[in-house]
Amino acid sequence: MHQCWSFLFIAIKMALVSLIAVYLMLTVMPHFFVEISGHRITVDLSYTLDSSVMKWITNREFELKVINSTSKRSDSPIWYQTDEITMSTHTGTHLDAPIHFAKNRWTVAEIPLHHLIERPLSIIDIVDQAQSTRDYAATVDDVKQWEEINGEIPEESVVIFRTGWSKFWPNKLDYFGTDTKDPKLAHFPGIHHDTAQWLVDKRKIFGLGIDSPSVDCGQCSELRTHVIVGNANVYNLENIEKSIFRLPNVGATITTLPIKIAGASGTPVRVIAQYAHNHADTNSGIGLNPSILTIITFILFALYNMVHH
Ligand SMILES: [Zn+2]
Repeated sequence: MHQCWSFLFIAIKMALVSLIAVYLMLTVMPHFFVEISGHRITVDLSYTLDSSVMKWITNREFELKVINSTSKRSDSPIWYQTDEITMSTHTGTHLDAPIHFAKNRWTVAEIPLHHLIERPLSIIDIVDQAQSTRDYAATVDDVKQWEEINGEIPEESVVIFRTGWSKFWPNKLDYFGTDTKDPKLAHFPGIHHDTAQWLVDKRKIFGLGIDSPSVDCGQCSELRTHVIVGNANVYNLENIEKSIFRLPNVGATITTLPIKIAGASGTPVRVIAQYAHNHADTNSGIGLNPSILTIITFILFALYNMVHH
């Protein structure tokens, strides 16, 4: 074969091998590309703490009190403000530390940072089920069906169930199913305790979340999901904000940084998720994605055959 042709032959062959390698990595380990891609989209999954923020129905209201400002010191040219907040630790988008329902388990300050930072995020949609049954409790079958499409939930990850309840925020009656302080009258979707047990045992998750008031459904009065999750030193994220609908089912990472309160069973948290640009359903421009790589690989394969014969 002519030397020029043989050089082209090797070049195409190398390009083919590397493309197949990239393709496999994209498919098998999408998080790799979240890491190397500069195009990470950040989504805030937390509600703002203001006078409209909701908390568990038996708890006290959130209150911000500005206790000093320049208006009281009109002689000074310097702006000065300080304030006090009073609230329940289970206010707005918050974290339940394992000790919330399990004695001697981690308090807020004791949860190791690596359980909280850049964990793979799996989002399981149960909007249809919750729409037809207000007290729907997500089943193991819901998870298994989801895994058939999206692959196995990785170990040490965070799983969030998306119920669509965020559309009711901040209307207390619609969100909790009652505007009283009586938990017996509450109706909202949660996660069945068998599902919690399965996720803890079989998938060894670090965190469990939901975009409703609690991981236990409104009528799940024994709160068994809380107990199971707490005993396994797994934390909960409750009242996840509606931006959960902007995220892909897999491929995003989630970071939760609780205030380091010693001894506390919960705290409001800023929860953020990040994902590579390629995972966006509103993808603008051409990124590296498996379908484009497949086409390029086929073209190179055709070229390879033309040159080789
Ligand atoms: Zn809570």
